[in-house]
Amino acid sequence: MLFTPQKYSIADRRGEPFIDPDEIRNTLKITENPSPADVGEALAAAMNLQRLTMRQTAVLLNAHDSENILDAARRLKKHVYGERIVIFAPLYIGNDCVNNCAYCGFRMSNKEAVRRTLERKEIEREVRQLENTGQKRLILVYGEHPRYSAEYIAETVRTVYATRAGEGRINRVNINAAPFDVEGFRTVKEAGIGTYQIFQESYDPVVYARFHKGPKADFNYRLTAFDRAIEAGIDDVGMGVLFGLGDWRYEALAMVRHTNHLEACFNIGPHTISFPRIRNASGVDTAALHPVSDDDFVRLVAVLRLAVPYAGLILTAREPAQLRNRLIESGVSQIDAGTNLEIGGYSSGGDAGQCLEREQFELMDTRTLADTIDELVAQGQIPSFCTACYRRGRTGEHFMQFSTEGHIKHFCTPNALLTFAEYLEDYATPDARRRGWELIGRKLAALDDGQMHVRVSELLARVRTGERDVMI
Ligand code: SAM
Ligand code: SF4
Repeated sequence: MLFTPQKYSIADRRGEPFIDPDEIRNTLKITENPSPADVGEALAAAMNLQRLTMRQTAVLLNAHDSENILDAARRLKKHVYGERIVIFAPLYIGNDCVNNCAYCGFRMSNKEAVRRTLERKEIEREVRQLENTGQKRLILVYGEHPRYSAEYIAETVRTVYATRAGEGRINRVNINAAPFDVEGFRTVKEAGIGTYQIFQESYDPVVYARFHKGPKADFNYRLTAFDRAIEAGIDDVGMGVLFGLGDWRYEALAMVRHTNHLEACFNIGPHTISFPRIRNASGVDTAALHPVSDDDFVRLVAVLRLAVPYAGLILTAREPAQLRNRLIESGVSQIDAGTNLEIGGYSSGGDAGQCLEREQFELMDTRTLADTIDELVAQGQIPSFCTACYRRGRTGEHFMQFSTEGHIKHFCTPNALLTFAEYLEDYATPDARRRGWELIGRKLAALDDGQMHVRVSELLARVRTGERDVMI
C-alpha cells in the first residue's frame, strides 16, 4: 500500500459513492482561521513530497496570506516537474447532446447551437491539420448522445492513431466523454486511449442537481466513473471541477477527497487534475453563477500543486495568455495550445473563438501553437511533446516521475528536449528555430550529470540529421 488511507464518515469501497458534503464543510469550518504554525506545518509536509491530508489542504485553502503558498508551489513545481510544459490540443468530435447542463453551449435545449458530428474523413482532415502544426497529443471531446457509444468512440480513437501527415503522428489520444459501464471502458481501453478524463463539475449534490438535467443528473454514476474505468484497466484518469458553480474551497477539497478514494481503493491517484473556470456560452445566464476571482484561482492551483504533487495539472485556453503564463510558474504542467473549439475548425481555417453558436464556450487564449511555444521559450520553459513513458511501457507515468529518484533528470527533461528539437526542425520558422535551439543549449548545459549530457547531445545530433521519434 503506497498511500495511507484516512478514515472518513463514508468508507472507501470500490464503485461506491464516497462524498459526504458535511464532512467537507466541517473540515473547512474547523480550519477557518489557521495559525501561521498550521500553515507552516502543511507547507513543510508538502515540501517533503507528502500527499496532504484533507485538513492540511483546508488549512492552505483558508490561509490568510497567499505569498508563502505560491512560493512553495513554485519550488515544488520546479523540483517535481522541472521546467517543461506538456502541450496538447483538444479535438471536438461531435456536439449532439441529450443533457441540459445549464452552463454549456451544447445543451440539448439550445436551439442556437449548430450541431455537427465529424465523419471519418473529416476526423482525418482535422488530425492531418493538427499534425502539420506539430501536435503529438490530442484529447477527443464528445457530447453525451446514444450515437457516441463506446464502440463509436473507440473507432474515432483508432482513426486518429492511424492518420499520418508525412512524419507527423499523434502519439497519445486521450478522451473526455460521458461515463461508461465497465464493458464500455474496456472497449475504449482496447482502442489505446491514454487518459480518460471526466469532470465531476460540482461535488456538492445540491449544486449539482441545480445545473444538470438528463442522464448526467445522476451524481453518483458520474462520481464512480473512475472506479469503473480503473476496473476496466484504465490507469490514467483525469479529474476536474467546473469552477463557478459552487464554493471553490469546497470543490477543491472534494477533489482531494476523490484522490484519497482512488488511492485507498486502487493504490493510484488521478493522472491529471483540471480546474476549468466557467466561460460565456451561447445563451448561458452567467448571473446565476459563483465566479472565482483571479487571486482565488491562483491560490487554488497552488494548493492543488502542493496537495497532490504527483498529478499533472492542466490549464486550458479558457484562461487568458497572461494568467496562463503566470500559473505555469506555480503549478500547471500541461496546457493546450493552438486550440480551436469549432467542430471541424482546424481544417476549415476559421478563426478560433469567433462564433459562440459553433463552440462550447468562449475561448480566452487564441494564440497559435507557434506563438504559445515562442512565449514558453521566452519564459525558459521547454515545450514538451513527450509520450515516451507511456510508449515504453513505463505506465503510471506521473506517479513514477514523482516517486522515482532522478526520473525527471533521466527521462522527462531529456525527452522534452528531444521532442522539442524535433518540433523545431519540422515545424518552426527559422527565427523560432534559432531561439528554440538556444534554449535547448542552455538546458543541456544545466544538466549536471556528465553522462546524460553526452547521451542527450548525441541524440540531439541525430534529430538534427533527420532521425525522428528519438527518445530515452
Ligand atoms: N459531454 C461530456 C461531459 O459533459 O462530461 C464531455 C465533456 S464537455 C464537452 C467538457 C467539459 O467542458 C465539461 O465537463 C464542463 O466542465 C466544461 N464546460 C461546459 N460548459 C462550459 C463553459 N461554459 N465554460 C467552461 N467550461 C465548460
Ligand atoms: Fe452535453 Fe457535456 Fe455540454 Fe453537458 S457539458 S450539455 S453533457 S456536452
